[in-house]
Amino acid sequence: MSLHGRTALVTGSTSGIGLGVARALAAEGARVTLNGFGDPADIEALVAEISATSGSPAAYDGADLSRGEDVAAMVARAEERAGSLDILVNNAGIQHVAPIDQFPPERWDAIIALNLSAVFHGMRAAIPGMRQRGYGRIINVASAHGLVASAQKVAYVAAKHGVVGATKVAALETANDGITVNAICPGWVLTPLVERQLADRAAAAGTDVATESELLLSEKQPMLAFTTPEAIGALALYLCSDAARTVTGASLSIDGGWTAQ
Ligand code: NAD
Repeated sequence: MSLHGRTALVTGSTSGIGLGVARALAAEGARVTLNGFGDPADIEALVAEISATSGSPAAYDGADLSRGEDVAAMVARAEERAGSLDILVNNAGIQHVAPIDQFPPERWDAIIALNLSAVFHGMRAAIPGMRQRGYGRIINVASAHGLVASAQKVAYVAAKHGVVGATKVAALETANDGITVNAICPGWVLTPLVERQLADRAAAAGTDVATESELLLSEKQPMLAFTTPEAIGALALYLCSDAARTVTGASLSIDGGWTAQ
């Protein structure tokens, strides 16, 4: 498969899963716009790496996606810079862990804004151009928590269930426009988002990160192994392939059996 001539925007791609997806798209020749936070020197190095891999100039947009108008403006800039936006990967996300009665309302607002509303704003801004050009691939990174719940993650679980629902609606509305819209639902992927949870658990339990990694996996996943960002990248590539042109509105689990239970 080649994505030469295709343009992509991957939100939250300075780290973790988003970076894995950006690298996979670039390896097939897509012209990629990165987004997310981080050290400017590290981001500059990533832009250079992704440009060299894909053979076309990558870009970086530092938009804070917790504001809807900023999401739309970022999509417009990406389209203008590259002349199109063929592939949109809505991936940026955050987490907060606490029981509902102790869950800070401002963390609820922040998680809903980034993990759910930004996905709506991104799709809303990208679909008209994709429809006009007759081609689009939208990939929303949801979670196993888009399909089932865990205690202490009310905002995250609500947002990710919302992403799965919004994905289905967008798929229906674009079914005959050359556009597919799908959700990827990973189980545990070892990224900074999960590393922070492991460190918090180890501090609270007086254990270490290795012990908490084993416990974390065994609580949820029959397969006691983390998925890699590279594997999520490979699944995203499949969704961009011609073979996947009738895959739309799907929620694709990549979760070591988590949601089979
Ligand atoms: P991560 O913390 O490694 O990366 C998150 C990315 O989002 C970073 O690039 C960060 O800079 C960016 N970001 C954070 N706030 C932002 C904002 N306001 N505006 C723009 N960018 C922002 O996390 P990750 O584990 O790679 O998670 C990526 C996605 O995958 C998230 O949506 C997460 O919910 C989902 N997910 C992760 C796992 C997992 O086990 N790691 C499992 C299922 C789903």
